[in-house]
Amino acid sequence: NQTIYLKNRPEGKPSLNDFQFIEEEMPEPGDGEILLKTKYVSVDPYLRGRMRDQKSYIEPFKLNEPVESGIIAEVIKSNNRHFSVGEHVNGMLQWKEFQTATGNGLNKVNASEAPLTAYLGVLGLTGITALMGLDKIGKPKEGETLLVSGASGAVGSVAGQIGKIKGCRVVGIAGSDEKIKLIKDKFGFDEGINYKTTDNMIKAIAKACPSGVDVYFDNVGGEILDAAIANINKFGRIINCGAISLYNETETPMGPRHEGTFIKKSVLMQGFTVRDYVKEFAPPMQQLAEWIKQGKLTYSETIVEGFENIPQAFLDLFDGKNKGKMIVKV
Ligand code: NDP
Repeated sequence: NQTIYLKNRPEGKPSLNDFQFIEEEMPEPGDGEILLKTKYVSVDPYLRGRMRDQKSYIEPFKLNEPVESGIIAEVIKSNNRHFSVGEHVNGMLQWKEFQTATGNGLNKVNASEAPLTAYLGVLGLTGITALMGLDKIGKPKEGETLLVSGASGAVGSVAGQIGKIKGCRVVGIAGSDEKIKLIKDKFGFDEGINYKTTDNMIKAIAKACPSGVDVYFDNVGGEILDAAIANINKFGRIINCGAISLYNETETPMGPRHEGTFIKKSVLMQGFTVRDYVKEFAPPMQQLAEWIKQGKLTYSETIVEGFENIPQAFLDLFDGKNKGKMIVKV
């Protein structure tokens, strides 16, 4: 039974050396417990924050203890009358091939209703994040321009499509020409900007958004956020969802830079963590499922095979190796 521990707290960019594989005994479920076999593991940018020893909205990982993330697992033994062998559950679980659990905090998921992986992405935290960010903060209106960074990723690709459903002009920012093609062809974005081949993001956004930016869904922070602020319209809304461009920095760089834009243009910039809304997850999940059924929403997944590849899949997020939700199939 392989387990992955956090071995070091990385300085800057994490590496494989920060993780350690340990062989543990096969656990046995106690009274009221279930034995779970890991099937699909979600790797996410926010796990980088949990590798630091700092206070946040979620506890940091402890050194020399298993890493955890969103996992879909199968019940293979059950001493708990609420769970039957063969059922699948979704929840925050440890990076172990097999583990026991009480069932608290786990949600059953049904493979006949949606592919199991969808519960880690479009019907899970990242899809709900996209919808909640737009509903609670961005409030995009028909005819407005929505700009999305990290546009080909799990959150960004869903946010852009919701913008289209709401009748916006949607422009995406991503890190390769292939990703720009994907967001336009598959996800219906109107325009795309490859930030890696663009030397002036302020001008590139101005060109792609001729009527300015009404709502900016920010997944990356840093210089791209600055460039979006420079193009924001009167009464614009900026959703601070993530800042992946800064997660591996050892010191937080200065920013955002603007010349009184927020005041002159009455701009709102608000952060959020989707975990604040856990009690409100059911309606957005239902809405996302409905849009998929109606053919209005689609999704991509990058599925890496093998338990041993979980750390590398996590590291690859910072090199943009994924399109859509990054998931490891065990
Ligand atoms: P993604 O699927 O978007 O994967 C990460 C992507 O980020 C990569 O594919 C890469 O794409 C891009 N990226 C990596 N490094 C940089 C960089 N230096 N500058 C710009 N882009 C970069 O991940 P998620 O959809 O899971 O998460 C997206 C963001 O949303 C993250 O910042 C995450 O922390 C945040 N988030 C926030 C939540 C909340 O509750 N507030 C909940 C879930 C996620 P590319 O090739 O385009 O560079």
